[in-house]
Amino acid sequence: MAAVWQCQEVTSPSTAGAVRQGSLRELNLAVVLRRIAAADRPPSRAEIAAGTGLTRATVSAVVDDLIVGRLVAEADPAPRTGAGRPARGLVLAGDGPAGLGLEVNVDYLAACVVDLTGTVRHHVVRRADLRPVSPADALARLAALAADARAAAARQGLTLAGAALAVPGLVDAGGMVRLAPNLGWRDVDVPALLAGDRLTEPVDGVPPLVVENEANLAAVGELHAGPSGSASFLYISGEIGIGAGIVLDGRLYRGTRGWSGEIGHIPVHPEGRPCRCGGRGCLERYAGQEVVLAAAGLAGAELPADTAATRLADLARAGDPATLAALADAGTALGVAVAGVVNLLDLDTVVLGGGYAPLAPWLRPPVVGELSCRVLTAAWSPVTVRPAALGARSAAVGGAASVVRRIVDRPVGWLAAAAEASLPR
Ligand SMILES: [Zn+2]
Repeated sequence: MAAVWQCQEVTSPSTAGAVRQGSLRELNLAVVLRRIAAADRPPSRAEIAAGTGLTRATVSAVVDDLIVGRLVAEADPAPRTGAGRPARGLVLAGDGPAGLGLEVNVDYLAACVVDLTGTVRHHVVRRADLRPVSPADALARLAALAADARAAAARQGLTLAGAALAVPGLVDAGGMVRLAPNLGWRDVDVPALLAGDRLTEPVDGVPPLVVENEANLAAVGELHAGPSGSASFLYISGEIGIGAGIVLDGRLYRGTRGWSGEIGHIPVHPEGRPCRCGGRGCLERYAGQEVVLAAAGLAGAELPADTAATRLADLARAGDPATLAALADAGTALGVAVAGVVNLLDLDTVVLGGGYAPLAPWLRPPVVGELSCRVLTAAWSPVTVRPAALGARSAAVGGAASVVRRIVDRPVGWLAAAAEASLPR
């Protein structure tokens, strides 16, 4: 197998000699797999060779490895249109590795499995008020859901290659939840609390568990599930708190410490209402779920996040004046904050997610109104404002998608593990 990895095919003559065989094989595997993943229709081996500059012999050998490793499959043959045998197109395999997506939120737990093609193969949401529950107990319940998901994946011939857990708070690089105010968590060492639970199979290059802010993972989910062409966008998750995920050129921008996206604490009225953060006039105090519920006359209703949004949408659809006014005010405040972000980052798309997704018909007009008068470039290039493609609960799906994306980016780790026959099918 090693003989097929030819240096001159993917590197310049000046650097070719320095490239080791192993790293060249790794590079070729990733180049071919990414080509297949990004294609609009299943490409043939010849088309991949033409598009990558690799020889057909090299592409064929790489593809053989990817097929044996359950990362690629041959699509159904194209209809015969003339003489000769039609070339078989190549697609990502739906029976190999998969990602495990998990979420702990204020009033529910979720677990889902996403395969390499991005298809959701298992998704369970368990309602529970987790505010009075200790972090250890909440994570023990989550581990039980994860074990069920792992069994469901195995029944479908899938192998879980890594897990991502979404939490509504600030998470540091080691997976420590520094602060999740609405859950009442502070300095919770999530990886340590889940250390006794084997969630996935070990795969080189894929962390067994990544803990991440929920808006960030939801943004990743939107990147893979949303309309193509949105490589840079702002994803806003509207719950009791308001978080945002920033995607730039197809990658999540996490910030220096992973704490980017705290849009809820951008001031929209500098001398305005006091906020839990210690500041005044933060967006959260004008467009957060509790504020909107109170303005709509539903204060103290203690509604779970999705029920609250559904209730507000029902009232708005019925023309309730207080609800319509509350959503208009929230949308205006949201538009003011988002305009600042769009001016700064030159984004062309804003995605309304979390509890904002079902309220998009009423939030969108005031947001668009603010953007059109506050964004300098709006006259030439209007900003698209749309609801999240995955709806209100996309963080777990986004987390699972981020796991399979790591395998597409670096397939050699999975192939090495599969070659050792340590991974069940
Ligand atoms: Zn604040």
